[in-house]
Amino acid sequence: MNRNRDFDVIIIGGGHSGCEAALAVSRLGFRALLLNHNIDNTALMPCNPAIGGPAKGNLVRELDALGGEQALAADFATLHLRWLNTSKGFAVRTLRAQCDLKDYASRYSRVLAEVPGLFVYQGMASEIVVDAGRACGVVTRAGEKFSASRVILASGTYMRGVVHMGMTSFPSGPLGQVPSPEISESLARTGIELRRFRTDTTPRICRHSVDWDSLPLQPSDPSPAAFSHWGPKKLHRGYFCAQTRTSARTHDILKAALGRSPLATKKLDTAGPRYCPSIDDKILKFPDKESHPIFLEPVGRESREVYMQNFSTTSPPDVQIEMIHTLPGCERALMIRPGYGIEYDYVSPEQLEPWLETRSVRGLYCAGQICGTSGYEEAAALGLMAGINAALSLRGQGPLVLGRDQAYIGVLIDDLTTRGTDEPYRMLPSRCEHRLLMRHDNADDRLCRVGMEIGLLSADRWAAFEARKRAIEQERERLAAIRVPACDRTNAILREMGSSPLAEPAFAMDLLLRPEISWDGLLKLIDSDLSADLGAKIEIEAKYAGYARREAGRVRRLSSMERLRIPDGMEYGEIPGLSAEASEKLSRVCPRTLGQASRIPGVNNVDLQLVQVAIERARRLSDGGRAGAAGRDLPC
Ligand SMILES: Cc1cc2nc3c(=O)[nH]c(=O)nc-3n(C[C@H](O)[C@H](O)[C@H](O)COP(=O)(O)OP(=O)(O)OC[C@H]3O[C@@H](n4cnc5c(N)ncnc54)[C@H](O)[C@@H]3O)c2cc1C
Repeated sequence: MNRNRDFDVIIIGGGHSGCEAALAVSRLGFRALLLNHNIDNTALMPCNPAIGGPAKGNLVRELDALGGEQALAADFATLHLRWLNTSKGFAVRTLRAQCDLKDYASRYSRVLAEVPGLFVYQGMASEIVVDAGRACGVVTRAGEKFSASRVILASGTYMRGVVHMGMTSFPSGPLGQVPSPEISESLARTGIELRRFRTDTTPRICRHSVDWDSLPLQPSDPSPAAFSHWGPKKLHRGYFCAQTRTSARTHDILKAALGRSPLATKKLDTAGPRYCPSIDDKILKFPDKESHPIFLEPVGRESREVYMQNFSTTSPPDVQIEMIHTLPGCERALMIRPGYGIEYDYVSPEQLEPWLETRSVRGLYCAGQICGTSGYEEAAALGLMAGINAALSLRGQGPLVLGRDQAYIGVLIDDLTTRGTDEPYRMLPSRCEHRLLMRHDNADDRLCRVGMEIGLLSADRWAAFEARKRAIEQERERLAAIRVPACDRTNAILREMGSSPLAEPAFAMDLLLRPEISWDGLLKLIDSDLSADLGAKIEIEAKYAGYARREAGRVRRLSSMERLRIPDGMEYGEIPGLSAEASEKLSRVCPRTLGQASRIPGVNNVDLQLVQVAIERARRLSDGGRAGAAGRDLPC
């Protein structure tokens, strides 16, 4: 293998996105080189080793349904698990797992080693070789040359990384890793625009130095659960999280040190994650808030480190220690790693096609935090899609572009490539307009077929999916036929659940439609062999059927505009009446469909009508379709 320098695809970076991309490419039958500057940091979690949560959990489930790996890695490594948003309804209910960071990484490393056609190699990419506008290889800092007609850049927060702690800053990658200095210049030479973002992390403290008895503990959820549709559901190992909080003393310490804060002094004013602000940001921006909750979370079975969720900071280390000692339970805590902020280059994502290929260098794809996102789940989802699309293009097939009504992954990529982002982008339920259709529980219904058709979802998994669907269907039919008697026993159980008693027998399915009767509640009235998660699926679908039908109708009404294809090379400057702003933004983003154009900030309804007229004109003029696929639907 070492003599072979020719690959189908080279993936730069062994983080969450690079691992998913490499696995997808090789599982789809192509020879892949995963080039990582330090193979010991494969799938490293430089921040809190937690996977899932609102919207992010949906990304993990979708990735799993398509044939990706992250859900299995998270399940393998879960120490502590919780269902979140249970009171807000099933549409936004999701899992969050606190993982053992070594188990998570070792699972990825093992799978990478087992997949045929994938070669993992240690080397720092210093140049992406481009010939006549096409990527054709990578050169490492050591001067080694590798060739491939597709390159996926998944270099995370390493590109020209600079770490900030107080007024001190130095070149570094995250968690003491070395930064990646040269690849930025290589990209800039191709005309790709780079910008800078910042992200922060928290100090880590020693587990043995925390007074756990004085803190409210959060045990793991007692019911067995898993992200993956394919692995076993399991109970967890008795690890717990705990809550503490800041006080006026914590805030005073931070305020007294503002002269040494890179954020307050504006030494560091690069945009950071709005939805995950540092404690410095919170205290500066919300001075009236008296206290902020902090969660103490384990990072590994054998690790003595504790992660301090909600306490990321760029303050000087001595200030961090003082602040930690003001937190209840942490009065004697030993700080093992100080928190820090890291600035890095990213590729502004409006330069990418909806299949993650750069417009200026064909065959070059971007994936993960390099596209302006934040989070392991976003990174893995982008990596999977970049890997799939690189492989599809090698097969000579059209790209896989998931719709906004099909997957959170579709929303993620559409948001990034259409609107760009001026802060590290994090997936949120509110970004997804069709979230009633795109629940945690139905990711398999939405995406297994896609995974199977492209060849990523194995035949065994497809068969398991079909068997599950059959079991659900049969049970649904059975529930629609079973009559629950209107007897004293039934009515006593119904009253206990706060449900009105029966005057005459009722079908079990009709009882399940009552909001106060859950699947578990129904099992007090009838027997069923179905597993708890499939039973919950029947309940969710029954209760949401009306909303889902309405939402599906709305999607159908929007879809003709959504999928109306804009011909390649559309000259927006020549569309009469189009506003200068719309013309400039449409020319920059190059939307592929009218739906995508409609989401570009600054493009209004009148502009869209003018573009639609121009599409129709182009269609009339097109020579039997050879002048571009004007007016046809985008393949997906
Ligand atoms: C300080 C900090 C705080 C964070 N906070 C949060 C948070 O609160 N919540 C959250 O969800 N996420 C957070 N994240 C983000 C999360 O860690 C990332 O989104 C995720 O790791 C990105 O995955 P990735 O695969 O894109 O990149 P990374 O995980 O960064 O992996 C990049 C990979 O590329 C390799 N590489 C880089 N350059 C080269 C090169 N030239 N040649 C070869 N290999 C190269 C590296 O070795 C590494 O393997 C934080 C990250 C950091 C650094």
